[in-house]
Amino acid sequence: MTDRDGNVKVQLGQMKSLGEDAGKEETDPEEEMPASSPSASPDPSSCITSTGTDASVCKQRGEKSSKDSSGKPLQGVAVPAYAVKNFNSPVCEQTLHIKGTGKILQGKSQSNGNYLGLHESRNTQETRCEDGCKLPRKRRPVTVDTSKAKTSLEALKISIKELKWKEFPLGRRAACDIYWHGVSFHDNENIVSGQVNKFPGMVEMLRKINLSRAVRTMQDLFPEEYDFYPRSWILPEEYQQFSAQIRMAKESDTSVSPTFIVKPDGGSQGDGIYLIRDPSDLKLMVGSQPKQAVVQEYINKPLLIDKLKFDIRLYVLIKSLEPLEIYIAKEGLTRFCTEPYQEPCQKNLTHVFMHLTNYSLNVHSGNFVHSDSQSTGSKRTLSSVLYRLAVKGVDIKRVWSDIIALVIKSVIAVVPELKVYYQADIPPGKPGPTCFQILGFDILLMKNLKPVLLEVNSNPSMRIEHEQEVAPGVFQYVPSPVDEQVKVGVIRDTLRLMDPCNKKSTASSQPKASGSSQGEEIQVDGEQQGRCPDNSGNLPPLCLKQVYPKYTKQFNHLRLVERIAALFIRFLGVKGNMRLGPTAFRTFIRTCKLSNSNFTMASVDILYIDITRRWSCALPDSREAGMGLQAFLEAFFYLAARRFKSLMLREQVVSLLELCEAHLGPQSGSEDRRSLSCSRVMPRVIKTQTLCLSNPQLNSPAAQRRAMSQDCRPHQRLKPRTLRANVEN
Ligand code: ADP
Repeated sequence: MTDRDGNVKVQLGQMKSLGEDAGKEETDPEEEMPASSPSASPDPSSCITSTGTDASVCKQRGEKSSKDSSGKPLQGVAVPAYAVKNFNSPVCEQTLHIKGTGKILQGKSQSNGNYLGLHESRNTQETRCEDGCKLPRKRRPVTVDTSKAKTSLEALKISIKELKWKEFPLGRRAACDIYWHGVSFHDNENIVSGQVNKFPGMVEMLRKINLSRAVRTMQDLFPEEYDFYPRSWILPEEYQQFSAQIRMAKESDTSVSPTFIVKPDGGSQGDGIYLIRDPSDLKLMVGSQPKQAVVQEYINKPLLIDKLKFDIRLYVLIKSLEPLEIYIAKEGLTRFCTEPYQEPCQKNLTHVFMHLTNYSLNVHSGNFVHSDSQSTGSKRTLSSVLYRLAVKGVDIKRVWSDIIALVIKSVIAVVPELKVYYQADIPPGKPGPTCFQILGFDILLMKNLKPVLLEVNSNPSMRIEHEQEVAPGVFQYVPSPVDEQVKVGVIRDTLRLMDPCNKKSTASSQPKASGSSQGEEIQVDGEQQGRCPDNSGNLPPLCLKQVYPKYTKQFNHLRLVERIAALFIRFLGVKGNMRLGPTAFRTFIRTCKLSNSNFTMASVDILYIDITRRWSCALPDSREAGMGLQAFLEAFFYLAARRFKSLMLREQVVSLLELCEAHLGPQSGSEDRRSLSCSRVMPRVIKTQTLCLSNPQLNSPAAQRRAMSQDCRPHQRLKPRTLRANVEN
């Protein structure tokens, strides 16, 4: 055995142990992370085993220990200080310790807005047998409305069956516990309880332009931390800057010949994507309309395997927005190009099978290899690829930890605007469901192993069949074992985490001020998932690993824009609004005492008009008038720069934020209802039918927006194209 083989074995062995621990969410001790710094990333937890030459993934394992064979704690693993003890209770009695207060919450609890009887769950009530011994009463199965699941249906059905839950394929008159939508939050209207697998606004937020904007804001504030997203320009509005910057770069160094990738906003599956080497090659118009697109620096040195470019599809669960809870699937997919890679040159710019990793494109190449094995073919498991890299001596722990950091930072970038959508569609204090969502992260590894974010999919394909050409020109869907293995695990374990019986965190444990450290003090042990007797006895360990709040300490400082969004939401006033009117903006300025003799209320009005007008040009098809969050951020940054001239941008923003928060004080009483909090007081069981008639939400601006829109979905920025269900890239 060579040294390298030995190293790989040791590394894989260590990762195996970490994977085992991570799989048992209930006993997984807190992992330590490197100190916070731009490069600080979480320790990985892998699910790779090194049996044979092929990697087998996330297998059910019996071992419980978080120690290595010598009995020492694993490197980077520590027991959480806030661990809750009462895990062995046979009746799902959960006790929530509020860190630092010594307070214990028992019984009725609120999670993401839902009141739940945790003390004696409806699912786990006890009964007594004749000789007095306690028997767990048979739980009512969790009900899932799958009528709108679309292409996720097959994987969802398998998952529900494995969990012994009850499926309602045609919907149900009475409320279900979980609603599984194929496209957006609004696939079913008038849901007033339970949980929906989509957040309002997620489709819109993850369109290419909006994602680029959100990441750009974070790049302005934290340039070193957000260097995982390629430099991007928004078209048509930034065409001049793009042209000027490229011209200057080329003039200053004539050997520079960068390549750019142009992606239509709202496009998917590689549709309409092309590469250019000069701004003059941009196709700026569709008919007489300017084309909305993102033009992005092309990563021309990707990591290759078998001389082929590939990308990673990683599944990420946002379990709740408030408090923010993020899980990452320990297994993902890799999609391979079907033509050997060469660095872009004028000749090969149009070779899509060389440059684009989209499954939907490459499946039509004669070179596409369908394989039932995880480690060969044009679609492979992530673990099999990591295994290959480990064999070559790559530090895959580092790679995985960088990927986790990329995911957390990306989610932090989109959360502020998601909260604005959330409060508009599900106003605090009004009946409505709570939400969770599986996202598909597309990540490219550069030759130097640095992960780069390509895009985030709000509707990642959960199909477990793949298209195959069964006769020339005749395509059919045939089962795909690789897809099934990965996707069923992700859906089943998402359901397990969302099991109403398992809900635990409390409304009262939610941060008062968005993302402030005070909010983070309250911690509920994140590892008690699956503690309820939820039929999980025969199920494998969870394949989803919690990364937030687990790594709060390393990333909490990035949640600055969320605090600004909290101010914005506070001044929105009317529930259901997403835009500030001029009066509300004035109130914000007055309340926070931001005007003075140098900056009069007349200047405030001019600022409002100026910024709002520019943003309504940038977002021409938005229906609601007023100042949206992006425009408010611009105004806020401007005010911060005016007031704290001598500081750097981030310090300016922090200083202004602190000033505003000090003037506003803690939110209380009626103001609380307008706060950023996404939690709501849930009604007791109310029949959907009744609420359809008298749903107060129907009078809200959000409902009116929906009614105005042709397809009953809010926010007309959507084009029908983006609402395609579950696209496979
Ligand atoms: P779509 O939603 O249409 O799939 P993506 O942003 O995922 O759009 O891009 C499609 C493909 O193009 C990706 O899967 C990847 O292979 C390639 N790609 C995208 N952006 C870049 C980039 N900046 N550098 C190199 N390749 C890229």
